[in-house]
Amino acid sequence: MKKLKLQQFTEHCFAFTGAVNIGYCKKDGKGLLVDTGIDESSIKKVLKIIKQNALPLDYCIITHAHADHFGGAAYLKKNTHIPLYATALESAIMENPILEPIYLFNGASPIEELRNKFLEGPKVLVEHDLKIGENTIGPFEMEALDLSGHSYAQTGLLIEDILYAADGYFGREALNKHVIPFIIDADKTLSSLEKLLHIQCKGAVPGHGPFEENFQASVRENKKVHMENLHSLYQLIGSKENGETVETLTKEMLTLHNLEVQTLGQWLLFRTSITAYLASLQREKRIRFIVRDNEPRVVAD
Ligand SMILES: [Zn+2]
Repeated sequence: MKKLKLQQFTEHCFAFTGAVNIGYCKKDGKGLLVDTGIDESSIKKVLKIIKQNALPLDYCIITHAHADHFGGAAYLKKNTHIPLYATALESAIMENPILEPIYLFNGASPIEELRNKFLEGPKVLVEHDLKIGENTIGPFEMEALDLSGHSYAQTGLLIEDILYAADGYFGREALNKHVIPFIIDADKTLSSLEKLLHIQCKGAVPGHGPFEENFQASVRENKKVHMENLHSLYQLIGSKENGETVETLTKEMLTLHNLEVQTLGQWLLFRTSITAYLASLQREKRIRFIVRDNEPRVVAD
């Protein structure tokens, strides 16, 4: 586990960097957090450093409703009473966090195994809507960017000259670890990555990975991974006369990348990404979803 440390980028912009990065900005005696880490212990470490350095803390923005980004929010709120900000759809999930195990489990009531801290963070009420575009929170002026694709309404934040990119892209090490990164929409993921390539700023910090001035190189790596995944998935489908089931395609993509999945939760996350790639191929009319012999399959068009 990487040790959490406070890293400064510009006069006002910082981040607590570790396994999950947590953004921090300080201006005119006010402090703003971006995300909270996965649980009580991660946010406690942040609060400890804030206290030790007598730093202000007044607001918290949550980029998206994945447990590793909002899991510490309930503890943060209970202990500091600061207001939370997020986009509407992500707030709805944080207020009803069982929704993630529900959507992963095909909409059925999830089995207990899926109700773990990686898939379901503690419920928290988000009182402020973050709008895409210009926002002012206390002394902080920022642009909230629509970085949907990895989640339904993820936002990245351009605050002064620093981009807090959330999981809009992964640092190289995280990208190599995931191989098939979690996405819910491949086209939106690619257009969010394209958007990131055109942002001019001093540097960016992703949710997982180091701060980089030349972050565009990492963004391009992310793009390449998704393009390759789309390509190899299409090749797999094309090689089968009668098409294939999503389950088998998921298995074959995992085998192709030498991934050995240990838990059902992990497998369901991969299946969601594979489904998202398939939906993109369907939109391009390269494949079709059909039902044959009471089995849903995808076939090349
Ligand atoms: Zn995420």
